[in-house]
Amino acid sequence: MQKSVDHLVIGGGCIGVSIAYHLAKRKVGSVLLLERGEFLGQESTGKCAGGIRAQFSTEINARLSLLSIDRFEHWQEEIATPFQYRQWGYLFLLTSDDLVARFKTSHAMWTKLGMKVEWLHPADISKRFPHVNMEGVRGATFHARDGFGDPNDITQGYASAARKHGAVIETGVEVTGIELSSTRRKVTGVKTSKGNVACKNLILATGAWSKVVAAWAGVDVPIEPLPRQIIVTDKFDLIKDPWPMTVDLSTTLYCHRESGGVLIGMSNEAQKPQFETVFDEDYGEKMLMTAMHRIPVLEHAAPKHKWSGLYETTPDHHPIFGTLPPVDGLYICAGFSGHGLMHAPAAGIVTSEIVLDGKAKSVDVSTLSNARFTGGGQLIDERNVI
Ligand SMILES: Cc1cc2nc3c(=O)[nH]c(=O)nc-3n(C[C@H](O)[C@H](O)[C@H](O)COP(=O)(O)OP(=O)(O)OC[C@H]3O[C@@H](n4cnc5c(N)ncnc54)[C@H](O)[C@@H]3O)c2cc1C
Repeated sequence: MQKSVDHLVIGGGCIGVSIAYHLAKRKVGSVLLLERGEFLGQESTGKCAGGIRAQFSTEINARLSLLSIDRFEHWQEEIATPFQYRQWGYLFLLTSDDLVARFKTSHAMWTKLGMKVEWLHPADISKRFPHVNMEGVRGATFHARDGFGDPNDITQGYASAARKHGAVIETGVEVTGIELSSTRRKVTGVKTSKGNVACKNLILATGAWSKVVAAWAGVDVPIEPLPRQIIVTDKFDLIKDPWPMTVDLSTTLYCHRESGGVLIGMSNEAQKPQFETVFDEDYGEKMLMTAMHRIPVLEHAAPKHKWSGLYETTPDHHPIFGTLPPVDGLYICAGFSGHGLMHAPAAGIVTSEIVLDGKAKSVDVSTLSNARFTGGGQLIDERNVI
């Protein structure tokens, strides 16, 4: 007999498992999550840097982060699974008048939201963070509640909490099609590699693949797969802990402590969207040179691991939440544009509210519907993308 559920989530990355947990917790109908991979969190989630921060240029992104950071800070009370989480702060180095002016504007918005972000002058920076080469640095911001967390802990934690609340999570099941009513205005289920499943609500948490999956229902969502790469060095202790996630926005270089070594990331602005993720050695060399310029002591660190993964990027670098008209019962929560891990708690909370209550209550995400790309809203670009 064909399976039937109330809420079916496609995608077992950090976003999908958070949605499954937050839906299951409400106990309003059955929840099934299908992930095609053998394990959960092996795509963008498993390739990510683990950064968690609220220093965004748009208020909505900052609000999504603040809600998420609050949940990460209360992880043990709520989820009760192991979670490596280090609130060692994010240090944004500002190397131009334009960046200083932009961050002054953001600083006022952050203060309004209750964030205590320190504004640092060059002398403060060299004193507190002697690892930084101050060439060209005109100032910096530092927010102590920012930091980084383990992506696998977040994914496994939400998955286990979702199961405790009755959600069923199946891996190794690929969704291959969306079934619609005869008018094509209502979701009725999905086709999968292991048979069909009927559902009332279908939530796409399919990250970089969301455009492909939404197209099965005749809906266009502008999410592109953009390869981004990371290098992790061997054990390195020449910078004392706790050293914050250090970001040079002018080059997009970022570094933080990882498994006793250092994680280095930097976005290749010339990269074109594609699904293939092959580590680009030439660009890797550029990442190392840029890292050693800004943090000279890194010349003593030996690269050990390197990989490439996908950002799921939208034109305005904000996620897409909510219904996907004209198809009733079809929802999306994807396109976090490189910020999905840090927004996973908020993503699950607001998506469960949209599905169960018809509207997000915890953070108003109505401006982030897919309609903003089809003439039904305004685009506000997030500028602090690294
Ligand atoms: C190099 C790099 C660094 C990053 N650094 C950070 C960071 O510091 N902080 C941060 O917050 N974010 C960061 N990100 C972004 C973050 O990884 C993503 O935003 C987040 O993981 C998105 O989660 P997701 O669940 O939407 O996508 P994914 O983790 O990709 O999950 C989507 C899942 O859907 C599954 N799927 C797709 N199609 C189907 C189908 N048809 N049937 C069944 N399953 C399907 C896939 O197999 C996949 O597991 C980084 C990303 C990269 C690549």
